[in-house]
Amino acid sequence: MTGSLPHYPLTIAGEAYAGQSRYEVVAPADGRTIATVAMAGRAEIDLAVTNAAERFRGYLWRTMRPHDRANMLVRLATRIREEAGDLAALESRNAGKPIRAARAEVEAAARCFEYYAGAVGTFHGQSLLPAARGYGAVYHPPIGVCGMIVPWNFPLLITAWKCAPALAMGNTVVVKPAEATPLTALRLAELALEAGFPEGVLTIVPGLGDQAGQALVEHPLVRKISFTGSTATGKRIARTAAETLKKVSLELGGKSAALIFADTDLDTCVDSTLWSVFDNSGQDCCSRSRILVERGLYNEFLARFATAANRLKLGLPSEEDTDLGPLITPAHRARVLGFITQAQDQGATLVQGGDMPGDEPLADGNYLFPAIFIDAQPNHRIMQEEVFGPVACILPFDSEEEALTIANDTAYGLSGSIWTRDINRVQRLVHGLAAGCLSVNSNSSVHQEMPFGGVKQSGYGHELGPDALRAYCETKSVFYSEG
Ligand code: NAD
Repeated sequence: MTGSLPHYPLTIAGEAYAGQSRYEVVAPADGRTIATVAMAGRAEIDLAVTNAAERFRGYLWRTMRPHDRANMLVRLATRIREEAGDLAALESRNAGKPIRAARAEVEAAARCFEYYAGAVGTFHGQSLLPAARGYGAVYHPPIGVCGMIVPWNFPLLITAWKCAPALAMGNTVVVKPAEATPLTALRLAELALEAGFPEGVLTIVPGLGDQAGQALVEHPLVRKISFTGSTATGKRIARTAAETLKKVSLELGGKSAALIFADTDLDTCVDSTLWSVFDNSGQDCCSRSRILVERGLYNEFLARFATAANRLKLGLPSEEDTDLGPLITPAHRARVLGFITQAQDQGATLVQGGDMPGDEPLADGNYLFPAIFIDAQPNHRIMQEEVFGPVACILPFDSEEEALTIANDTAYGLSGSIWTRDINRVQRLVHGLAAGCLSVNSNSSVHQEMPFGGVKQSGYGHELGPDALRAYCETKSVFYSEG
């Protein structure tokens, strides 16, 4: 029975469309349907992209003074803040996030629009003196229509990371949110209109990845794809985008490590490392799911980490004291449970967690108690593949070289943490670790002001920081002759 539920039609160029069908959006916390959403197929993607291309060609947005576009981004940030309570509640319900985390992400989304409103004013081309008589100018015009493909783990925030720099530079944008979590992105488009954005500059097209997403990547009028999600899908997108030689940025999976040495401040380290792997119920590409501890500290670290994990409250996302919410879907939880079973089959020891709550109200949701493994070997699947759930593997090491070798022994290279007071060791490890984002004596490697992206199979291209503006522009060289 979905008759009384909110329904979100497809809105393209100010018109509402039914789409190829409608689907139900389900709350991870209790399995209830919370809304129905019109699903874009190939025809609707074509409509959205064609309209975005017309808006781009139509000058209104791209030739607007950067200062005026920036003001609109600031107004959007203000609208996000005015609606922060409702947006956080919607994100929390749709994605199963603890409400405190959802509030922080809404605030970070607002800050992201403000940041690029400011950053675009400092982004400029160059004037150069070629050997010939005359002078050269280098301009950075916008690219055109940018297709953004967003995952379900940080739905509003990652939408903001992609849209804010692209819009600031004067591109028009079509966003394909994840099937499971389209609601806050749809609301963002409404807020953008209220903030004064012209119709068609920011269009949200919910739909299936292999249909709507694929159509967006194939569309010849889309000139840039920015994707966050799994490495498998990222590779497929890169192959498809090559047909039309689109620019592509890929922020993919990770299998990050925390390297913890015996001289670390253990209180800070245990607390921080706990959140680095279990925050967002482990559904985080930066999750430090491999925790490597120098042998002399290993037993004490393990005991304290296990005690702290036991204190985390698994609970309803709407409750203020909830630390961990449910996983996104029953299928995703089943996938995580598959990793847990296989790890045990391969000889790893489950110290605690990894089970599902049996009592109401949590029994109705996709919950999983945080799992801690020891005895996993570096080549085990649980140590090599991205689990994307609340699963930590803790391993002892005997030397810095051994820790470095284990840490680098995956296909991924997104983030990682170094815990030690030895500055020389820090320097060696910063240079030795194959990862795009590191944190020292902290688990915090994602900052609005700094570039974020990976190496190896964690992808290419960067989000955040001033350089994200470069991902959304062309380079045009012009020689002006003196005579
Ligand atoms: P996914 O890569 O399949 O989906 C991410 C986005 O890509 C979604 O919007 C999806 O609809 C879209 N998509 C899927 N196939 C597409 C295609 N052929 N063309 C264009 N777009 C397409 O990820 P998922 O199924 O949501 O999650 C699976 C795994 O991906 C997770 O378990 C996790 O390992 C990883 N993941 C990583 C991140 C990250 O931030 N790096 C985020 C979400 C998921």
